[in-house]
Amino acid sequence: AQIVQAEFIKSSVRTEACPSDGLPEFALVGRSNVGKSSLLNSIVRRKKLALTSKKPGKTQCINHFRVNDSWYLVDLPGYGYASAPQELRTDWNKFTKDYFLNRSTLVSVFLLIDASIPAKKIDLEYASWLGQNQVPMTLIFTKCDKRKKKKNGGKRPEENVNEFQELIRDFFETAPPWIMTSGVTNQGRDEMLLHMAQLRNY
Ligand code: GDP
Repeated sequence: AQIVQAEFIKSSVRTEACPSDGLPEFALVGRSNVGKSSLLNSIVRRKKLALTSKKPGKTQCINHFRVNDSWYLVDLPGYGYASAPQELRTDWNKFTKDYFLNRSTLVSVFLLIDASIPAKKIDLEYASWLGQNQVPMTLIFTKCDKRKKKKNGGKRPEENVNEFQELIRDFFETAPPWIMTSGVTNQGRDEMLLHMAQLRNY
């Protein structure tokens, strides 16, 4: 699981418009600023593959990247933009929820959670929705290289990770798999690639 060659295939605004070649896919979703672009770029080791703009509007689509010509990484619209109008936020929800429930080639949703801060309500809501709807999910904790800071609750990433899992436990029959990552140090990159390879071979 070393060379990762990826190419952008298309942006879709509806589930039905997504690629129809049947290749398995993994979807990355998380709060705006969680480190999704950094993680995507760390996985494929290519700068600027993902849309790195943090402005809502640039990333409102389902973006398919084909990896090694055999599977997809899917970049989904972020959630929780403080500045987005409520109306828009609701739309994103409907749109991504439809994708989660109806995309038959979706192997697992990678829910990105910032490990440098305590659990956020919106992340817990997202995780519980996925759990209750039995959408296969992997928890990807980001920014695990960050040191504890008083203003961030004064906890180490490991503590935040444990707490998050504890808080969502009741929504899952079996605890979802989880991986600690960093787009800065590339921690978790190989583990993610291995995890995806294992899931594809089921
Ligand atoms: P996105 O909005 O989810 O795509 O987030 P970005 O990848 O653009 O990252 C948001 C901010 O967090 C940027 O300032 C990044 O430099 C920072 N960041 C992203 N990933 C990491 C990480 O793994 N470790 C640290 N320390 N900072 C990160």
